[in-house]
Amino acid sequence: MATERTRLLIDAGTSRREICKRLAAIGEGGGRFDAILVSHEHSDHVAGLPALAKNLDAPVYVTRLTAPSLEWNGYEPKLETFQAGAGLVIGDIEIDTFTIPHDAIDPVGFCFRTQGVKIGLVTDLGYIPESIKFHLRGADLLALESNHDLEMLKVGPYPWSVKQRIMGRKGHLSNDVVCQYIRDEMDSATTTLALGHLSEHNNHPEIVRLGAEQALAGRSLFTKLVVAERGRPTEIFEY
Ligand SMILES: [Zn+2]
Ligand SMILES: [Zn+2]
Repeated sequence: MATERTRLLIDAGTSRREICKRLAAIGEGGGRFDAILVSHEHSDHVAGLPALAKNLDAPVYVTRLTAPSLEWNGYEPKLETFQAGAGLVIGDIEIDTFTIPHDAIDPVGFCFRTQGVKIGLVTDLGYIPESIKFHLRGADLLALESNHDLEMLKVGPYPWSVKQRIMGRKGHLSNDVVCQYIRDEMDSATTTLALGHLSEHNNHPEIVRLGAEQALAGRSLFTKLVVAERGRPTEIFEY
């Protein structure tokens, strides 16, 4: 995300090449990044981190507990460690960090505030505890995971132990849980809802879209729904 003054990258789950290609495709290829923020150490969030941090020469913000688990392949990054739950300020962006329930060492979600706009970004969580609902209140843009369709997961190709992990309290959010959140809890301030982190094998963008549209219809809000498909950039959200 970026303001006129500050540019942040959150997670680096694919190769440096691919990330740079995607940034260039949305016109954000050149220039300096002020920071890379890391949510947790799973490879789909840090695979490109060593090469990217070196390439961008940007400081890496990561929790104190997650930091030792990151591999740097000989490169010495500028590490800025923080405690999960701490507030950060980078340039003109204020950032709230908060603990999320997921099977990683010390996973966090983020809310970004700048120029009167609030953006929530939360993926990789087994359920949505009250504390997270509280953090997400007032978000103008909410980017949330809608990881799997329960039926597809149950009949899908994963071994039972993996299925249990995904469905567990420290796994990932199902479409049903997200729809329930939209119906019962999502703040009416949220004008854009971007659903992402869709499972490749256990979900389909159209299922996510249909369910979320139905859930939103019950709210009579004018929330714009965007479903982020794997490997494809979403539109750019401007406020
Ligand atoms: Zn993930
Ligand atoms: Zn994860």
